Amino acid sequence: SGATARRAKGRKPPQYLDLDADIKFSDVAGLGDIRKELEEIVDFFTYGEKYRRRGSKIPAGILLCGEPGTGKTLLAKAVAGEAGVNFFSISASQFVEIYVGVGASRVRALYQEARDNAPAVVFIDELDAVGRQRGLIGGSGGQERDSTLNQLLTCLDGFEGRGEVITIAATNRADILDSALVRPGRFDRKIFIPKPGTKGRAEILKVHARNKPMAEEVDYDAVAEMTDGMVGAQLANILDVAALSVLRDSRTEITTDDLLEAAQLEEGGHPDPRPRSTKLLEMLALNEASMAACAVNFPDFKQIQLLTIVPRMGEEKGAVRFRPDHTKFELQSMGRQGILDYITVQLSPRAADELWNGADNMSTIWADTVDQARSAARDFVYAGLSDRKDLYGLFDCWNEIHQVWGVDVEALKIVNSCYQRALEILDRNRDLVNALVDRLVEDKTIRQAEFQDLVERHGNLIEEIPQP
Ligand code: ADP
Repeated sequence: SGATARRAKGRKPPQYLDLDADIKFSDVAGLGDIRKELEEIVDFFTYGEKYRRRGSKIPAGILLCGEPGTGKTLLAKAVAGEAGVNFFSISASQFVEIYVGVGASRVRALYQEARDNAPAVVFIDELDAVGRQRGLIGGSGGQERDSTLNQLLTCLDGFEGRGEVITIAATNRADILDSALVRPGRFDRKIFIPKPGTKGRAEILKVHARNKPMAEEVDYDAVAEMTDGMVGAQLANILDVAALSVLRDSRTEITTDDLLEAAQLEEGGHPDPRPRSTKLLEMLALNEASMAACAVNFPDFKQIQLLTIVPRMGEEKGAVRFRPDHTKFELQSMGRQGILDYITVQLSPRAADELWNGADNMSTIWADTVDQARSAARDFVYAGLSDRKDLYGLFDCWNEIHQVWGVDVEALKIVNSCYQRALEILDRNRDLVNALVDRLVEDKTIRQAEFQDLVERHGNLIEEIPQP
């Protein structure tokens, strides 16, 4: 096709030419309107003459900004693939050499090749490595970098408005680029490539599922829900890992569970690094099951995506994954009742330990969630949300010691009343907790749909939310 056909004959093969770049826009998913902007660039190649005659401006350079793995390289390749032109690429980190002049001569060689094989897309990855604002980095690298940058500017200017060689550069640090680079006629078109949303993630997963032996009813939406914050490169990896595990087990089809497990791995989880005793598995399961059985009673926490006793990287225990993920920020944005509910959820592993094993037979497996509860209760009091409004703002107080003590007493009261509430909720949901524990011990993981089903069958949720 276009890419190879246009290669000049008889010359030594160009060094920076990317031959396997037969990528099309259909290989890039989840980018919505951004794709339209890039389609216009394809038009510059196809209808360049028309644009020029009309006096329209064709950019010399387009800057794609976004985090690693969001598909910037893929998009640049797709532009070349759709236009049927050659694709030359280099990472700007390769320009940066200790010998003065090496970087500049590489830039010259790159553009010489592109010119000889025009029309072409030149792709420069990590532009910030060479395009940092002058004066930002000192030392011996500075002068070399400047000569490389100057050479790049010269090359860009040479192609301005002509539409036969268009440079696409990628960076995650548009903020530190030298202003000379983003001047009109250079990288004057900036396109931000965001991380994909839930819908985008589902689309990306589907693109990478295209040539794989997928089971009939794979739930891409469920996997998309589970992969909040991930970029295209990670989603592609999930498909590859799932495909490998299917091969390893001599199975024929990739299922939703394969994808979810691969997603868990991608996120840093690792399945059972060492064998754990049934007793320990049961304790861990009770820990997670009690939190979920309690949380499902509360509006802010009732959407549970996943329960697992598979430990995450660097952690010993499993997790209950809420939706949305409850970061500290989200806790802060929650209302008064939401925080009390949060405290109650965090106390439920201890309450369950007491209910199931008896006060004299307890472990301390819940120690960290109780810590969370205590610290949230203190924040609650400091914020003036408790009945003791006077405890608001520690440092304005004339008697700090007296007040710290007051905060602790008040926080303890809140913890105690939330604990009573956790006991009551769990006591009326013993069936649900038992059912969840059984499933967790057996399968290690419970997903949203199954969780809801178990709640419907075994749950005894509270109707009114009493103030503790
Ligand atoms: P970047 O250049 O932004 O670091 P890449 O384009 O190199 O990211 O992405 C790496 C890989 O991740 C791609 O080759 C592709 O397999 C996958 N990928 C990333 N974004 C997307 C996307 N939007 N659609 C489909 N695949 C994607």
